[in-house]
Amino acid sequence: MELHLTETQALVRNTARTFARERVAPGARERDRTGTFPAELLREMAELGLLGVNVPAAYGGAEAGATAYALAMMEIAEACASTAVAMAVTNMCAELISKFGTEAQKQRYVTRLTSGAAVAGAFALSEPQAGSDASALETRAMRKDGGWVLDGAKQWITSGDRAGVIVVWARTGAGGAGGLSAFIVEGGAPGLLVGKHEDKMGLRASSTVPLQFEDCRLKGDALLGGEGEGFKLAMMALDGGRIGIASQACGVTRAALAATVRYTRERKAFGKPVADFQAVRFMLATIQTELAAAELLTFRAANLKESGRPFTREASMAKLFGSELANRAADKAVQLHGGYGYIDEFPVERYLRDARVQTIYEGTSEIQRLVIARELLRAAG
Ligand SMILES: Cc1cc2nc3c(=O)[nH]c(=O)nc-3n(C[C@H](O)[C@H](O)[C@H](O)COP(=O)(O)OP(=O)(O)OC[C@H]3O[C@@H](n4cnc5c(N)ncnc54)[C@H](O)[C@@H]3O)c2cc1C
Repeated sequence: MELHLTETQALVRNTARTFARERVAPGARERDRTGTFPAELLREMAELGLLGVNVPAAYGGAEAGATAYALAMMEIAEACASTAVAMAVTNMCAELISKFGTEAQKQRYVTRLTSGAAVAGAFALSEPQAGSDASALETRAMRKDGGWVLDGAKQWITSGDRAGVIVVWARTGAGGAGGLSAFIVEGGAPGLLVGKHEDKMGLRASSTVPLQFEDCRLKGDALLGGEGEGFKLAMMALDGGRIGIASQACGVTRAALAATVRYTRERKAFGKPVADFQAVRFMLATIQTELAAAELLTFRAANLKESGRPFTREASMAKLFGSELANRAADKAVQLHGGYGYIDEFPVERYLRDARVQTIYEGTSEIQRLVIARELLRAAG
């Protein structure tokens, strides 16, 4: 669907669109097959301002706002969801540090993320025993010799082996959410051990690894935000991150729909194009309509965010609806390709595999529903 865009938003969208079509889409299938991380694409994206779309220009960002970010993410995800998730986490880290970091942290780390010098950013919250309930995480940070020592295990960390800048959550106080703090850790820090790549169902060109912290020594200025503020920072980052995943879902849905329109117009059965059957048209019409709804939900959350209003509920609604739609749309796309949908000669099986994680990461659909209901009930007094 088309929004009325500002000049800046149109520029960012068009830049991302051209780049996605010319540079990202052509190798997507091969990267998926070979599990190749899109390092070169991320470097080029940094040059185009796509690694800090909603980050102040003072730290190398494009300062174009949350809607521009959503528009760009949709374009990249339509071409390659794996590249999009690396972009999303890098933007998330750059935004978080630019909002809560000290001036020195912003100069040092945000500029590395936006310029591509860090390759990517990583967001290390989840642990083997703590995913949906982040407040139960067990990684510890202890004060020592004027600095901090990290010990513990993180699980499922996107770009965790590639990232030059990693935001890590650890317990600095008692149990529960109030005892958590966030830290900035540089990739390759002594005591940071990277585990084996997860062999995933989808997003195969994105790397997902466990991280182990063993006596990992950090300087005193590694703390991001205040001590004990970690949970608040994580939830704020995830609110914004959910706009990113909602956008990723819209991108995958667009790709699935476009491939299906193309295919069903060409493929013939019973003497006519498959697209001429009413049952098929109904499926296409439903996906098209729901896609427009998902995009609007995403733009609404982004608009609230950039105008400084609360957007927690709207981001969860966009993420919930968009991610579930991407799964339905990619599933229908496979169905409407018949047997050809099930082989990798056509892209729709990749879309289905890539869509699957979207209802899981950055908060499962169940967690989004809990957030939406909590905000709904709170607003009702
Ligand atoms: C490919 C991939 C990339 C990821 N990248 C990152 C990353 O970069 N950084 C990071 O920190 N994490 C990352 N994650 C982790 C992801 O965010 C978690 O997997 C997710 O939050 C769910 O946590 P879990 O896997 O521990 O599931 P669990 O929390 O164990 O949940 C299991 C099931 O129980 C349900 N459930 C849990 N609590 C409730 C409840 N209260 N009510 C109803 N149902 C409930 C869940 O919805 C789910 O269906 C990634 C995961 C994947 C698969």
